[in-house]
Amino acid sequence: MSVTVRVPAKVNVQLAVGAARPDGFHDLANVFLAVGLYDEVTAAPAASLRLTCAGPDADQVPLDESNLAARAARALAGRYGVEPAVHLHLAKDIPVAGGMAGGSADAAGALVACDALWGTHAPREELLEICAELGSDVPFSLVGGAALGTGRGERLRPLEVGGTFHWVFAVADGGLSTPAVYREFDRLTEGTDVPEPVASDALLSALAKGDATALAAALTNDLQPAALSLRPALADTLAAGRGAGALAALVSGSGPTTAFLAPDAETATRVARSLTASGTCRTARTTTAPAPGATVLS
Ligand code: ATP
Repeated sequence: MSVTVRVPAKVNVQLAVGAARPDGFHDLANVFLAVGLYDEVTAAPAASLRLTCAGPDADQVPLDESNLAARAARALAGRYGVEPAVHLHLAKDIPVAGGMAGGSADAAGALVACDALWGTHAPREELLEICAELGSDVPFSLVGGAALGTGRGERLRPLEVGGTFHWVFAVADGGLSTPAVYREFDRLTEGTDVPEPVASDALLSALAKGDATALAAALTNDLQPAALSLRPALADTLAAGRGAGALAALVSGSGPTTAFLAPDAETATRVARSLTASGTCRTARTTTAPAPGATVLS
């Protein structure tokens, strides 16, 4: 018997970052949108916790105790006093270290898969609590759709989305470390007055209406200057997508994946082709949003 759970990637349609707090974290106003690129996490009984991974970036995924999926399984097992005797297989399609919360998705997927496999039937609130302990982006991977994250991003309020949005994601070669991008943000904003992060009303209303043009005008990512500073070539990718007809282009989360909002599916396909031909990225993927959160497939 095994359980397979599908989990989505995310793009931050707004990522407002406050000044570094004394504990080093940053307050955020983080509008998450789940997109239709997925990892699948399969949990099957085993003698002890074991992890395998397949997919284009599989060699970059740590298979030791640092893997977020393994940590999720251990956290659930610890709470319920069961042995984490499980084989977790990650079928990874979400770019690794790409700013799309792939590791967080795997954590949420492993949690839901182990909960079903072990019959622990943890209440949703408890699953969300474990998610928040594992990382600020993990609760959103569980719920999917769209949500406003405040605090470190882990306090979530679901948001209404009034339509389907067409996206293209340009996957870069190699990843960017999220902590390194935050350090660069701190360096670039040192001595400046960093405003309190607040969600944009224009953006929330564009999401609620399903209005791609209005959403394009409201997209912001305060980490973008830091990601571009560490990886200047991303500016060429953004320009290539804009030139091919995207309504807007931005760095996804901490990067280096870049995200392009298109007015319709045809334009998205054209933008993806141009991005691939431009030689400024490894590959370009089209997809739609919002996508559902962690879903048990079998
Ligand atoms: P975020 O957008 O949440 O900042 P990300 O998408 O940039 O994250 P991830 O793909 O989550 O980045 O990977 C970040 C790092 O986490 C990787 O370099 C890897 O060392 C580690 N990691 C731990 N568990 C996983 C996992 N299951 N899948 C991928 N990376 C993992």
